Amino acid sequence: MTVRAPAKINLFLGVGGLRRDGYHAVTNVAQAVSLYDEVTARAARGVSAAVRGEGAGAVPSGLGNLAVRAAEALRAYAGVQSGVHLEIRKTIPVAAGLAGGSADAAAALVACDRLWRTGLDRDALTSLAADCGSDVPFALSGGVGLGTGRGEQVSPVLVAGEYHWVLAFASGGLSTPAVYSEFDRLQGIGAFSPGAQPAVASPDGIAQVVTEPPPADGVLSALRHADAGLLADVLRNDLAAAAVRLRPDLSRTLDAGREMGALAAIVSGSGPTCAFLTATRDERIRLAAGIAGAGVCRAVQQVSGPVPGARVVSDPQRSPTALDSS
Ligand code: ATP
Repeated sequence: MTVRAPAKINLFLGVGGLRRDGYHAVTNVAQAVSLYDEVTARAARGVSAAVRGEGAGAVPSGLGNLAVRAAEALRAYAGVQSGVHLEIRKTIPVAAGLAGGSADAAAALVACDRLWRTGLDRDALTSLAADCGSDVPFALSGGVGLGTGRGEQVSPVLVAGEYHWVLAFASGGLSTPAVYSEFDRLQGIGAFSPGAQPAVASPDGIAQVVTEPPPADGVLSALRHADAGLLADVLRNDLAAAAVRLRPDLSRTLDAGREMGALAAIVSGSGPTCAFLTATRDERIRLAAGIAGAGVCRAVQQVSGPVPGARVVSDPQRSPTALDSS
């Protein structure tokens, strides 16, 4: 049973106050793009995983692996006795701000649900996904999603058109918690969104939610118009400054893309991947060649979006024509 799941780019990541549970409130518009990890699930005793491909050496294969955790969560939820061995083939770079681990978790949920014939409906899978991590529900649904809460409450966004991106992968990764800590540090004690009122400390000294994250209306409107130029003007990532503080080399990458004519240059999520939006496929090819030649990143990849979320690509239990999009 093989399932593939896509990476995501954040078109809008508005960060609000720190919640009592330690997460930031966010408004997150994410687009799934055509860069995929694949997870193959085979019946086994216990739950185990082997990781291959891009950055595999940095990925734990035990319970620290999000895909293993997702399989264990489904097993416990559905009272399954059987086990599974997960073979994870990574193409999405690790700790790159592209939610590769979440993609693997979503793929594992879909693969194990099929393998164990647990037959969970979309809502149940989505709820298990949210328990596995904030970005996992979106990796299940794909397309374009508007995430609220800590990002895990995802509603689909209607989108017209196809968007062309060049991704610039950096050497090494960035830890998402480290980027949020830097964000907090840049904002002062208690996180609050730019331009909002300062956070107020509660009597127990823990910062309370004092600000809502900013709304993503501009991005949602641009997506309805299927206009890459409009979208370029309203892309926003509140974590970008923190990511660049931790990885100053990213400024050079972003500048190079802008100078070479990208409609927009952004840090994806918590970085360090930079994403460049282009107006057309031809522009994308030209820009990818330029960025690769400038030596400002480890590797470039051309992708487009939106694409669907975690999908079965090979199911030995069913004929190829019977594969569906569940
Ligand atoms: P986040 O999803 O937290 O924003 P990210 O997209 O930047 O993170 P991921 O590739 O998801 O980065 O990896 C984040 C961390 O999660 C890695 O440092 C890695 O050790 C751990 N991890 C656990 N399982 C996986 C997995 N299947 N693939 C990649 N990383 C994983």
